[in-house]
Amino acid sequence: MADFIKIPKIELHCHLDGSLDLETSRRLLSERGENYEMDELAYLMQVPDSCESLAEYLKRFDLPNHCLQDAAGIEESSYALAKNAADENVKYLEVRFAPAFSTSKGMKYRDIIEAVEKGFSRARTDFDIETGIILCIMRGLEETVNKDVITIGREMLGSGVVACDIAGDEASYPIEMYADLFKYAKDIGLPFTIHGGETGIVSNIIGAIDLGAKRIGHGIAMIKDPDLMKYCGSHRIGAEICPTSNIQTKAYTRYEDCPIMTFMEYGVPVSLNTDNRTVSNTTLSREFEEINKAFGLSDENLKRIYEDSIDMIFADDSVKHSLLKKWNM
Ligand SMILES: [Zn+2]
Repeated sequence: MADFIKIPKIELHCHLDGSLDLETSRRLLSERGENYEMDELAYLMQVPDSCESLAEYLKRFDLPNHCLQDAAGIEESSYALAKNAADENVKYLEVRFAPAFSTSKGMKYRDIIEAVEKGFSRARTDFDIETGIILCIMRGLEETVNKDVITIGREMLGSGVVACDIAGDEASYPIEMYADLFKYAKDIGLPFTIHGGETGIVSNIIGAIDLGAKRIGHGIAMIKDPDLMKYCGSHRIGAEICPTSNIQTKAYTRYEDCPIMTFMEYGVPVSLNTDNRTVSNTTLSREFEEINKAFGLSDENLKRIYEDSIDMIFADDSVKHSLLKKWNM
């Protein structure tokens, strides 16, 4: 069996607030006057294996945000996340977060994004990893707030930022409600991925593609629509698949239900991801292990996932080319 820690990996769908290093968070919280024992912190930041609902899952994002309200906390949290990924041979990591959730102490979007990039830049110096920042706009937030995030994203494109995304409750806020914002992103030249089809709603995937998304966050509802899978296969529209997260939020019940192999049969580009390393108590190696246990990944499957992921990344050809050379199975 392949050693999934050792093989080079690409991660494209990882939320900063859901992926904070526990030890680092404990220190940051303590420096900010909030003291927790490790087991208490783990309870507050990780869902139990018996996670019953999306609500129980979402509760785990409250405390991490206390670490992300000042420049030092944001920089340290970002550095620790990239280090953890590099330690398991993630060679390229795209991390997403919502700047609008880090403003409780008055930080400006530019300073928040610069603090993340400062942490990542140190990690790129210290470890063999490349990084990219994806800014999340949020379903349910005011349009002006979301538009400001897209505007600053475009201004900082190339200074750490690679794209934007939309996250949040896709059942209550269908993608059509955000058509103008993504037209704006397209007009000003900010690439994007879109969370869609995580909870079974195919129309949110179709809507995302209509808006020009070349990548879909999760996209698992596509399994219900063979024509859509064929379309994504022939147009190289990729799915960012996050199996453990999907099981915990009850999108499906077992790793065997993950649609990754069917997507590959239809030619849909696929990448494997953690979504939220800490909340889900997972690593990218573990996601590969579980999918391997469920389906038995061949060397060819592994290479395909690596190459598809590179095809999907928001980086220029020189980065893609150097990542391709790192495959060593
Ligand atoms: Zn996500």
